Amino acid sequence: MAEKKTKKSKESKELFAEFPNLYKDISKDDLEACMNYAEEYKAFLDISKTEREFVENAIEAATDLGFVDIESKKTLKAGDKVFSSIKDKGLVLAVIGKKPVSEGINILGAHIDSPRLDLKPNPVYEDAEAAYFKTHYYGGIKKYQWTTIPLAIHGVIFTKDGVKHKITIGEKDEDPIFYITDLLPHLGNEQMKKNASEFISGEDLNVVIGGMPLKDAEKEPYKAYVLKYLNDNYGIVEKDFVTGEIEIVPAMKARDLGFDRAFIAAYGHDDKVCAYPALTALLTQERPSKTCVTMLTDKEEIGSYANSGAQSVLYENFLMELLAKTNKGTFDLLTYRKAIAASKMLSTDVSNAFDPKYASVSDSRNTAYMSKGIKLEKYVGARGKSGTNEATGDFVAEIVSVFDKNSIPWQTGELGKVDAGGGGTISAYMAKHGMNVIDAGVPVWSMHAPYEVISKIDIYYTYLAYKAFIENI
Ligand code: MN
Ligand code: MN
Repeated sequence: MAEKKTKKSKESKELFAEFPNLYKDISKDDLEACMNYAEEYKAFLDISKTEREFVENAIEAATDLGFVDIESKKTLKAGDKVFSSIKDKGLVLAVIGKKPVSEGINILGAHIDSPRLDLKPNPVYEDAEAAYFKTHYYGGIKKYQWTTIPLAIHGVIFTKDGVKHKITIGEKDEDPIFYITDLLPHLGNEQMKKNASEFISGEDLNVVIGGMPLKDAEKEPYKAYVLKYLNDNYGIVEKDFVTGEIEIVPAMKARDLGFDRAFIAAYGHDDKVCAYPALTALLTQERPSKTCVTMLTDKEEIGSYANSGAQSVLYENFLMELLAKTNKGTFDLLTYRKAIAASKMLSTDVSNAFDPKYASVSDSRNTAYMSKGIKLEKYVGARGKSGTNEATGDFVAEIVSVFDKNSIPWQTGELGKVDAGGGGTISAYMAKHGMNVIDAGVPVWSMHAPYEVISKIDIYYTYLAYKAFIENI
């Protein structure tokens, strides 16, 4: 009897798709490696809250490992490591493989922008003896979530002489923070009747930045105080804000979540929780078989537009340069197009993790869960799959085969229930060049909130999955 039972359970193991919680059977060594990787990620995330900061820190890490700007190389050979900054807000890196680029390259593509509040071009004002910034939100946010939390200012302002002034305030313990007020419940009767999207309007996302008057100011003394502070410390005047790329982000560090520290709560997991493994998986490559590329793009949260978004030709220029410089400087368009069509890409973006509190928006049989590993998402989009790339079945089979051979656990599903909503990633913009692309990333709780949650074991196995992909596909 016992023997028969074992056989049967083996059969059902093969017949049925099972996606176990990966903390269940993890070895002591793997758990330690997972926890260590999480520490590295948290440290990188805390200094990389904006796309500009991510690019700067990624270039520093890459340079330490021998990567150089592709502009400095006339030709490229196997083992060479190059990068190109995309307007300081996107980054593309490559390690040249042993096989020719014309046979196709392996690409990991994440985005490094996250939902936030940007300053308006003329942001400073005073009202009722306090000074404020006017903001314009960036990406899909629930506006009410941004009130009554500590906020930090990150960004750059250029003065007329072209000098870039970096401003980061609110991250150090001794720094002040900034704040958006909300109404006290005692007087909230009317407000509480509104639906959540009207609870606070875009024009009301005004950030408190000061409350002391400047002595002897001719006008607007509270605003004058702030302008003088900024002039004394950064040499900027009010008109310089027109050049500003100032982002208001949560002034909170990444923290372990739970008694067992299974999760990490942080700002900007979408999509740095995929960008970081996409970066680190590439940085450790020495002489890969095929040329490997990691793209870190900007503007995904608003449609991948602009010269730093995934739709920009600047990313393509880099791929063209790879082909030309590995081919003694010669280039022809058809060879390039065929090389890209032979290329393979993981669009490394996050997805929703099933949340039992909001179970009704997910199909429980077709959703990602926390701690079950990287989620393969054949398509995204909305309604009848509108606006999505859809990975071909044979490409999915290739990915699954590589993951299974390398003992990479994976799960699959959709973002949410059919007609519950939808979303997009950069996959469709890359697939149009002819390459095979599939979305594959880390599940997130409370996506797009100021403080999002991921599982440490998911980012760790996602890192291993990205490595397995670029090394073996
Ligand atoms: Mn994303
Ligand atoms: Mn997003």
